[in-house]
Amino acid sequence: MADQSKTARAPMVKTVDAVVVGGGFGGMYQLHRLRELGLSLQGFEAGDDVGGTWYWNRYPGARCDVPSLFYSFTFSEALTREWRWSEKYAAQPEILRYAGHIADRYGLRDLIAFQTRVTKAVFDEGSNQWLIETDRGDQVRARWCVMATGCLSVPQEPQITGAESFKGPIYHTGRWPHEPVDFTGQRVGVIGTGSSGIQSIPEIAKQAMHVTVFQRTANYSLPANNGPLTDADYEKHQQGYAEYLELLKAGAPGVIGGAETAPIPPLEKQRHVYQKHWDAGGTTLILAFPNVLTSQEVNDVASDFVREKIKAKVKDPAVAEKLSPRGHPIGTKRICVDLEYFETFNRANVSLVDVRAAPIQAITPTGLRTTEADYELDAIVLATGFDAMTGALLAMDITGVGGARLDQAWAGGPAAYLGLTVAGFPNLFMVTGPGSPSVLSNMLVAIEQHVDWISDAIAHMRAKGLNRIEAQPDAQAAWVAHVKATADSSLFPKANSWYMGANIPGKPRVFPIYIGDGYRRKCEDVAAKGYEGFTVG
Ligand code: FAD
Ligand code: NAP
Repeated sequence: MADQSKTARAPMVKTVDAVVVGGGFGGMYQLHRLRELGLSLQGFEAGDDVGGTWYWNRYPGARCDVPSLFYSFTFSEALTREWRWSEKYAAQPEILRYAGHIADRYGLRDLIAFQTRVTKAVFDEGSNQWLIETDRGDQVRARWCVMATGCLSVPQEPQITGAESFKGPIYHTGRWPHEPVDFTGQRVGVIGTGSSGIQSIPEIAKQAMHVTVFQRTANYSLPANNGPLTDADYEKHQQGYAEYLELLKAGAPGVIGGAETAPIPPLEKQRHVYQKHWDAGGTTLILAFPNVLTSQEVNDVASDFVREKIKAKVKDPAVAEKLSPRGHPIGTKRICVDLEYFETFNRANVSLVDVRAAPIQAITPTGLRTTEADYELDAIVLATGFDAMTGALLAMDITGVGGARLDQAWAGGPAAYLGLTVAGFPNLFMVTGPGSPSVLSNMLVAIEQHVDWISDAIAHMRAKGLNRIEAQPDAQAAWVAHVKATADSSLFPKANSWYMGANIPGKPRVFPIYIGDGYRRKCEDVAAKGYEGFTVG
């Protein structure tokens, strides 16, 4: 695990206009916008630098699955012009450099207290301020508090008996060490075959003596077809860029626009179109028709198409069958994008263990035991995911009006108005919070939209001399019901995915992502109508 030894500093006791928690892309852009508005600010970040996801997830093979040219901020023409990505899907070090460049360019690091975790936030009704406390003893009062704490920032480590007895290192992909990890000559066990496992396994296999992959659920993965970005790629992107910005402004469609009424395309057309998407690479295959994620019939064709591709790639038919996802429709667990993942199982130094058939029993001092066999290992990699969407928010002790606690308010699952604010918690905003498109959209675009909305709301309040904005319970309830109804019209609830909270024991089964159309317009309408659905005072 990364060394987080802390640099000494005295606790802060002060009052600022706004506190921003999180130093990822969300926190950085929020600090930038609020400083432009002239607010006094304090940022907090648990890590020792900016970058968030890209600071923590340093595992071999980590890269974006949205093309780099689009996994980029759009708010500044100059920033867009001066940054050049080297690959179609940039790797983690390059994305972290991009984050660092943004921090330097806008002078953001000075606003952030690093190595500092916010532990508590209490709303003081007398002053309409938040009192924020940290693990460093800081006490900061602020009118506005923005949680940019990330949808995928709390790693999930499975409780496996005997883990503490293992003689070698255990790494989590989401807390990868900063110094390079050398697996040369080692027998490495990887638990987990979501995006992190699928990205890291091929890279670890190139180095390790042997890799044993412990797979509980086979996953759909699509080839990235990665490669260097050329001048011609940039030129083409440049030509379409103004139109892209227009599309974003117009509120690019939700994930499954027009789904219910879309006709079912002829079978041959479906297969032809899937092939085109497959050849192009990336995630777009699951959006090839508006009803891939809503019609079981259409989804079955897409799922079969990908299973056939797996069969063609993997030489051993028994291994190919084990790697073929069954039991959940394609796209209802986060689709993965890979560089030679399935081909990796053709290597002599890679083996696949089905831990659904023979579950993991224990980690032993020398390896891992399933109900069928013992595996000797020198190192274990947990690619076991995150307590997504709510994990970081609920890890803090957040108390709103009348002593209401966020963990109690969300005992049955997260409820938020537009995914931006929670009734009973005035002046508290979430960037890409539950109930917004968040993880089912390009996150940098989602972050920009939320940060701009939050900044405009704060600017509005200050211009009018107002100091309290709070979601109304009925507006929130209507939004939550709408988010649920939209999800229920799709295939998403069919999967035991992290979207549904199914990877965390005891977590309420709620789909906390808005997949309908017109989200941006809805947010703009709310603001245009004087913050409809909010009590402002
Ligand atoms: P984060 O980057 O998660 O940053 C949140 C920060 O808040 C963290 O640094 C954390 O330490 C800090 N924090 C949390 N709680 C506290 C606290 N209490 N006190 C202090 N600090 C705190 N999205 C895409 O759109 N495309 C992709 O290709 C893509 N690839 C991904 C790859 C990986 C491996 C992962 C894990 C996620 C990926 N995502 C992707 C999602 C990714 O999280 C977002 O794109 C984006 O980086 C989120 O930025 P953020 O600032 O909202 O959150
Ligand atoms: P994940 O999708 O939740 O996958 C976790 C894996 O670990 C699953 O295969 C899960 O199996 C397995 N697992 C968990 N606990 C286990 C246990 N006790 N025993 C055996 N297996 C266990 O997590 P992730 O791969 O870290 O990805 C999370 C999200 O981060 C992605 O969906 C994506 O949004 C983002 N991400 C993106 C990229 C990218 O390509 N840009 C890369 C990494 C992450 P089950 O399925 O059976 O639960």
